[in-house]
Amino acid sequence: MSKDLLSYVGESGVIRLMQRFFPDHAHYVKKGIGDDCAVLETGGKDLLLVTTDMLAEGVHYTTKTTPYEDIGWKALAVNLSDIAAMGGTPHTAFLSIGLKSSTPVSILESFMRGFREMACEAGVFLAGGDTISVTSHSVISVTLLGRCSPEGLVFRSGARVGDDIWVSGFLGNAAGGLEILLRNEHKEEEGRQMLISSHQRPAPRLKLGKALGESGLAHAMIDLSDGVAKDLRHICDESNVGAVLDRGSIPISEPLQALARDLSHDPIDWALNGGEDYELLFTTLPEDRKKIEELTVSVMGRTAARIGFVVKDKGVWLRAGSMRTQLTHRGYTHF
Ligand SMILES: [Mg+2]
Repeated sequence: MSKDLLSYVGESGVIRLMQRFFPDHAHYVKKGIGDDCAVLETGGKDLLLVTTDMLAEGVHYTTKTTPYEDIGWKALAVNLSDIAAMGGTPHTAFLSIGLKSSTPVSILESFMRGFREMACEAGVFLAGGDTISVTSHSVISVTLLGRCSPEGLVFRSGARVGDDIWVSGFLGNAAGGLEILLRNEHKEEEGRQMLISSHQRPAPRLKLGKALGESGLAHAMIDLSDGVAKDLRHICDESNVGAVLDRGSIPISEPLQALARDLSHDPIDWALNGGEDYELLFTTLPEDRKKIEELTVSVMGRTAARIGFVVKDKGVWLRAGSMRTQLTHRGYTHF
């Protein structure tokens, strides 16, 4: 492969290249590239959070698996999830969209209905954006602003050796849902419907993210967009630590286990590498276990799952009994 191609340097290489052109931080940038949101000081008491996500037809979505209304919902949901991962509260969205001029108006209306539904649920207002016509695949870009008190903010970089690692819900459901949609088999079964809905309408954990931030219990936090194997690595890299996951503690839903049996697939693969679950992963002191259980029960009606712990040795490991295997991330990566 030619070293001159983006596919050679990879997604992280592309980001590093862009960063190289801006080596210095402006004084008001509290956090630049390298977390779920940028964090800016604005002179007020609260900090400004900014996140942006671009979705391309054929890469992030296809109308074969997700109707336009759900694409609208999801385009905002994935940004909300990044605000949640900082412990913030979202408020203002900007939506830019590129569609072919031959697109029926009803398709844009469907998209906007889903976008508005998610916005209303999260208390977000649309304040601007841009529209262009494209010649082939459609693109959607959402920029979302939020706020957070300096005390309530949680970065990726705060994980400490000995911390517990928690996730807010089941892993792999979205990947299972996508699998069902691609195969187009038995979609109407109740359990499968739940998995499909996890893929099409992810629920950003805004209340939990904020509660964890305000509690001061979370040392580090990230939302699971690319799969725990890859996203946990971001926490480890930023915090300069490693992590061990307990295979038996990874929360896998009944419907996903049933699907895995039907398709003779190991559900742990979907759970670790599937991506798009948009659950929160966070680390806390082992002494705070009871407090985390109480907090998550009070916010979500059930406890978060404790899936592992932070170690000094670099790398992410999966432990089953006395066996430890290093996870090479197979989560989603661009380029
Ligand atoms: Mg994120």
